[in-house]
Amino acid sequence: MKTIYPFLIVSLFFVIFASATGVSVFAEEPGYTDTPLIPGSTWRVHDRDRPQPKIVEPGTGDLGVTPPADAVVLFDGKGLDQWSRTDNKPIEGGIKDGAFDIMKTGQLRTKQEFGDFQLHIEWRTSELTEGFDRMNQGNSGVYLMELFEIQILESKASYIYADGNAGAIYGQYPPLVNPARGPLEWQSFDIFFTAPKFDGNTLKSPAVITLLYNGVLVQNHQKILGTVRHRDIPGQYPVKEKGPLMLQDHHSPVEFRNIWIRPLTSENAQQ
Ligand code: MG
Repeated sequence: MKTIYPFLIVSLFFVIFASATGVSVFAEEPGYTDTPLIPGSTWRVHDRDRPQPKIVEPGTGDLGVTPPADAVVLFDGKGLDQWSRTDNKPIEGGIKDGAFDIMKTGQLRTKQEFGDFQLHIEWRTSELTEGFDRMNQGNSGVYLMELFEIQILESKASYIYADGNAGAIYGQYPPLVNPARGPLEWQSFDIFFTAPKFDGNTLKSPAVITLLYNGVLVQNHQKILGTVRHRDIPGQYPVKEKGPLMLQDHHSPVEFRNIWIRPLTSENAQQ
């Protein structure tokens, strides 16, 4: 017990010092104080002070959901014939036990383009190794139309700025809560996406997303401000109403499985 006293005294000193000077005690405080304000928001892009989403233990039942009859199966554990690499090199391997590792396949995009859709996708991050980079552990992302990133990251053990957590519209909106599972545990996204619409070259309505992360609502009919950027305000919308899905290779092992999509056509849209 006696050995703990010096530690307590030193800790107390740091807390007093920190509160008196405003300097953070934590050397690795994630986020920034010098980035631009997000348009329409009081928070900066990747704001260090933006509150972290509340942790919510997810339930079960969101994994292994089989595709409905009208879904386009993008990956059922066998082949990647629906995908190509974004650098146009051939995909060589990467599939193991019904899943593929994006770091081994390379960054992928679908051969088909999609506008409005419902998407189911399962993913998991790798084992934590000593000295892991918490800003890049399990970093990947689902890019809608190759323009807007829904972040994938180890978000249970890790700690990043709020708008960089898994389930964030990266650099814009943190997830409403954090229902992350840990390393090596399978997780799911169910994405309901409305593509942007244009009148000639004028944006008529922005892209809108609703997202269930491990069965928990984390984006609720959220309008997307613009294309994904790092440390900068969202980019301007290009005049496009559909595009491929892309899975980001951020030099971090992340596995994917059970991917299917239901494109919504004008036939099943409510006018
Ligand atoms: Mg990412």
